[in-house]
Amino acid sequence: MSSVLTAPDPTTADPLQILHDVFGYERFRGRQQDIVEHVCSGGDALVLMPTGGGKSLCYQIPAISRQRAGHGVSIVVSPLIALMHDQVGALHEAGVDAEFLNSTLDWNQTLDIERRMQRGEITMIYVAPERLSTPRFLELLDGLRDTDRLALFAIDEAHCVSQWGHDFRPEYRGLSILHERYPGVPRIALTATADDLTRADIVERLELQDARQFVSSFDRPNIRYAIVEKKDPTQQLLRFIEREHPDEAGVVYCQSRKRVEELAQSLCDAGLNALPYHAGLDAAVRQRHQDRFLREDGIVMCATIAFGMGIDKPDVRFVAHVDMPKNIEGYYQETGRAGRDGQAADAWMAYGLQDVVNQRRMIDESPAGEEFKQVMRGKLDALLALAEATDCRRVRLLGYFGEPSQPCGNCDNCLNPPDIWDGTDAARKLLSTIYWIRKQQGIGFGAGQVMDIVRGKTSEKVVQHGHDKLSTFGLCADISEAQLRGVLRQLIATGALQVDAAAYNTLVLTDGSRAVLKGEVPVRLRLSLNTPTARAPRRERAGKTAPAAAALDAAGQTRFAALKSWRAEVAREHNLPAYVIFHDATLAAIAERAPNSLDDLQGITGIGGKKLEAYGAEVLRVSLAAG
Ligand code: ADP
Ligand code: ZN
Repeated sequence: MSSVLTAPDPTTADPLQILHDVFGYERFRGRQQDIVEHVCSGGDALVLMPTGGGKSLCYQIPAISRQRAGHGVSIVVSPLIALMHDQVGALHEAGVDAEFLNSTLDWNQTLDIERRMQRGEITMIYVAPERLSTPRFLELLDGLRDTDRLALFAIDEAHCVSQWGHDFRPEYRGLSILHERYPGVPRIALTATADDLTRADIVERLELQDARQFVSSFDRPNIRYAIVEKKDPTQQLLRFIEREHPDEAGVVYCQSRKRVEELAQSLCDAGLNALPYHAGLDAAVRQRHQDRFLREDGIVMCATIAFGMGIDKPDVRFVAHVDMPKNIEGYYQETGRAGRDGQAADAWMAYGLQDVVNQRRMIDESPAGEEFKQVMRGKLDALLALAEATDCRRVRLLGYFGEPSQPCGNCDNCLNPPDIWDGTDAARKLLSTIYWIRKQQGIGFGAGQVMDIVRGKTSEKVVQHGHDKLSTFGLCADISEAQLRGVLRQLIATGALQVDAAAYNTLVLTDGSRAVLKGEVPVRLRLSLNTPTARAPRRERAGKTAPAAAALDAAGQTRFAALKSWRAEVAREHNLPAYVIFHDATLAAIAERAPNSLDDLQGITGIGGKKLEAYGAEVLRVSLAAG
């Protein structure tokens, strides 16, 4: 248990040995090994793996291996200048010669790195796509190519090349040059976005027709999905955080910048450590907030979708949506940022009629072409179906990505199967009311009026328009407003009813209304989305301790706490997030083992050769001193 199988060999090109020596991990995960071997031997690859699946090692290990085998430097294309410093910092901690080239460097630093690149002293170089296609950089690459020292191109976040993805970056389009100009250099493109349309687009745009595709399961079993009916989202969110995730790190996604600001303020007022993040903030403020989120414990980031890509913080315990995203790809990508460390995490969304109306309107009013809008509507519909679902959320999510599965036991619907009621009859009455008003009076009305009519309310507006004389007046008197709202929401969600945003949000029948009116399409709803689902037993969490450490005894807890404060110190000195030094899970494993010698640290996951050398003695001292 306490000794490693083979001594570290800094010259080996063997991927498994590199995994042990450099990264301190015992075995490859999922398809990593196949991918790494394929790329090491010079093949092209398209890798689809969920967030947290371990994509980085899929190109980092081939980069190290190929350099050791004499193939030279690897180029990593990443859209995230703001994160390159931490990414490269993490590699330095593992003893890998990595650098980045971007606008944060001054001229001398840039020159120095370029020279070292030419001399073959660098294993991996991170660049943004716009840098890659500059004449200066291409000249550098040409030089390396002509001397056979260009080992690999890795294209991270490859979905950015596609307009069907949710992070389209026009600069990514320029990356087709890689294949055209350097046809002999292997390429690996990686993404966590897996739908067919985006995938096909990546293949075409990056000319990866001959690349081998590695598609992993997209399941994230440690994430618990829940979607609740939106009533007072700020209060609902606060209750969720207080009940499930006090003092833990999370991200809350909002639709607008204004909402981000307001919500961050409300959370702060309630005593939480919350920060805003959106594209309207000053770049320096954004960077500061991002750094604090990565470096401090327990921060709740309120953000637009501008935040999150490439954030590899492993211990984000929840991702919440207070507004509905545009599509399942976005939802899955965003929620995937929770629980990268494999520990229990939550994906929580509040969803209401207004979300449906807003998202439909945004599509209708966008300047895009009709074909594009159709695709967007289809994608929105799939998300609405997920939100309205009364069966397993995970089965639906994975099904969307073409992956069959069984009910998961870890989503709200599995844990608390909702009571279903048949809303078909109510739906027909609502639709026929809308039909008759328009037929008789030639105008439309909004949801409020239509609900008042079928519930038999003699409001001023009902009487004024003579709507109390309609044959449907009062026919749904026994049905609550919340239930009727649910029926309307589902009708709109499924396209059987439309909201005309250009005419005061009046309700309009569609081609899809007829089948519902005729009773051919059943409308099944949960009895009430708003009864808060009684939770399955709350996951054990000892106070503020990280999940990985929950199982430690009292002495172990003391060692763990001491190790954490030592780590915080080191992270500050190195200006890096704490998890880059060691993950919580690694510290917990050290605390559990209670090492008496350096030898006892061997084989603990996450302690590679360089880290053992750099920190082994310190870790031992801290752990022994804590008893
Ligand atoms: P992705 O980029 O796919 O979202 P990462 O590359 O950031 O995922 O990996 C997620 C986490 O899993 C990281 O903390 C990483 O260190 C860890 N990890 C990856 N591969 C392995 C492995 N083979 N063994 C143990 N941990 C791993
Ligand atoms: Zn489920």
